[in-house]
Amino acid sequence: MYAVLGNPIHHSLSPLIHRLFAEDTHESLVYTAILVPLNKLEMMLDKLEQENYQGLNITHPFKLEAFHLVHEKSILANKTQAINTIRFNKKGHRFGDNTDGIGLIRDLKLNHHISLINKKILILGAGGAVRGIIPSLLLEKPGNITIANRTEAKAIELMNLFADPTLTATNLNFHETISFDLILHATSLSLHNESISLPSHILHETTFCYDLAYQKETPFLLWAKKIGCKNYANGLGMLIEQAAESFFIWRGVRPNTEMVRDKLNSELS
Ligand code: NDP
Repeated sequence: MYAVLGNPIHHSLSPLIHRLFAEDTHESLVYTAILVPLNKLEMMLDKLEQENYQGLNITHPFKLEAFHLVHEKSILANKTQAINTIRFNKKGHRFGDNTDGIGLIRDLKLNHHISLINKKILILGAGGAVRGIIPSLLLEKPGNITIANRTEAKAIELMNLFADPTLTATNLNFHETISFDLILHATSLSLHNESISLPSHILHETTFCYDLAYQKETPFLLWAKKIGCKNYANGLGMLIEQAAESFFIWRGVRPNTEMVRDKLNSELS
């Protein structure tokens, strides 16, 4: 048995994605979504372990707290200090990993054929998702990464956490007229169908705009298209790829993500 834990959780596509993975790989598993009250994560982990769950996904707002509730962590989990995947090993031993960054990189490279080497990257937002993707982005050797956040202090905190010379932190007031090769929108505004106000000069002719949110049209992508952006994607591919990595951690087999992406794209349109 497996589950995704979050609050809220009703919107989660993870049960559907893992059902499709199980069908594809002929693995037999049950995967549900569980709403966890805000101060009850630890209690819930103990309860599910008692009930012989084999693995969990952890989503908003529990990824940082969950980091402190596992016994062994992957290198990426230690770097991000946040986890989205737990595997229950022998009784009383939990392994934690963070697959968000791998999911994003796989989607960008394999599905959108983007190389990040020497690229100028702008990240809008500095929340849990951004924390999870920065170490994986850095491994791709970009030229520089600017983290721009409404609360500048949080962008600075992430810059200091990862302590890499390619990282800079700022707020959302773009005074300099710089453009970027890749813009990753990672604020939670897309969930409310709202957008931040951005200047058009941050895009050039071949800028790739990516929204981590996975609804078909997001206000950020609509804005980018309106000012002429031709290369863009939502975060559905990332969601599926990070789920595939969790599936691999639990079951040791890799599902066919292309098939699941095609299915979800047609179901969500
Ligand atoms: P968090 O709540 O951790 O962070 C929210 C971010 O949005 C913060 O940087 C916050 O800025 C910013 N923000 C919120 N309101 C505003 C506003 N009015 N104006 C400007 N900025 C604002 O969220 P997550 O990082 O967990 O999630 C962010 C997005 O990423 C969501 O859309 C989520 O669905 C998506 N996501 C997608 C995944 C995928 O697999 N595709 C995986 C994980 C997340 P401040 O610090 O100032 O509050």
